[in-house]
Amino acid sequence: MLRISANYIQVPEEAKINKPIFDTCPGDEVTLEVKDFIEAGNEPWLWRGHSHTPPPKMGTPPKYVGRFYLRKEQVVSKTWAPCPCCSPDHRKFGRDGGLIAYFPDEKVVRLIGPDCFGSLNQEGHESAIADLKRREKEKSEFEYILRCVDKLGQWRSATDDMLKIAKQADTFFPGIQNRLEVSLQVKLWRNIRDGMLRVTEKFKTVKVRADGNSEEVTERIDTVLFPLDGYKALNPQRKALSPILEDLAAHLQKIGHVNVSSVRQMPPMMRTALARELRRILTSMQSVHDALAHELKFLSQVNVNRFRQWAADERSPVEFEFERKEGTISIRGSKAFNGLPIPEELRTSHLPSIDVPLLYHRRS
Ligand SMILES: [Zn+2]
Repeated sequence: MLRISANYIQVPEEAKINKPIFDTCPGDEVTLEVKDFIEAGNEPWLWRGHSHTPPPKMGTPPKYVGRFYLRKEQVVSKTWAPCPCCSPDHRKFGRDGGLIAYFPDEKVVRLIGPDCFGSLNQEGHESAIADLKRREKEKSEFEYILRCVDKLGQWRSATDDMLKIAKQADTFFPGIQNRLEVSLQVKLWRNIRDGMLRVTEKFKTVKVRADGNSEEVTERIDTVLFPLDGYKALNPQRKALSPILEDLAAHLQKIGHVNVSSVRQMPPMMRTALARELRRILTSMQSVHDALAHELKFLSQVNVNRFRQWAADERSPVEFEFERKEGTISIRGSKAFNGLPIPEELRTSHLPSIDVPLLYHRRS
């Protein structure tokens, strides 16, 4: 009885002929061609350059030109591709993509499963994969740097603009914190450290004891009155932001001369170091940006009104008056600080955009 597996696929004879059309190992243009061919709705084994023949058991190991991926719907429906190495007439691979392999002895290219050649020649496969990964890493670092180079000027001016704001924030917020916690002796931070303004309701209830007698007890229930925006500005351990920005400005200055043509001439090791430096700068710049954006929200009129209402509420764990009027803050308790001017730089919620590029391009 002839049994035809559900995975059987009739590969046309043209595909099963060797096509020795690649005198030398092709470059990225072939990877792009294969990608476009598949994306256009074609089956990978029908690509004009593919030789759907088993590679010779002996011979020079392949060089992996690049990777290719099946279309998303093919992966979802598990419509895999047949492999010339090990499964020429049955669907076999594609979940994790496949390899575009150049075989120099025959001058052919085969689209094969990601681990296939390893079963013929493990060592040859591993060194070809290591070489592909090295080229992929170099390419991704190169492209990442190119995406950054255009933005260096923008980041320098954003750093300068943020520095003006940070310098004021570094003085103003600790000043508020100090007046509340030191001058007025308010136990503030312990009550706002999770960003919630809580009040405590007390209830008297009657509880029946085991011996049958009853007693009156007080129960306390904490409820959140409001969330407090920008609460980290009042952390007594708050770290100054301007030294971080000054350090960033110095590092950005140091790589300020980098441009597209100097990146092209850089040896791979220098590019690796530069990509790492850019990632470090951007991570740090992003975290200062986030911190400032958070802190500036503290001063919004709505937020200050909530803070004021909570502090004045008799159920709250603190007692002081706090108010924003126009461009000033007033704090009153056992002492009074009236009309502390909010620096001009902190009266905005607008921060310069830093537009951080993706670390890696998503495939396809
Ligand atoms: Zn295979």
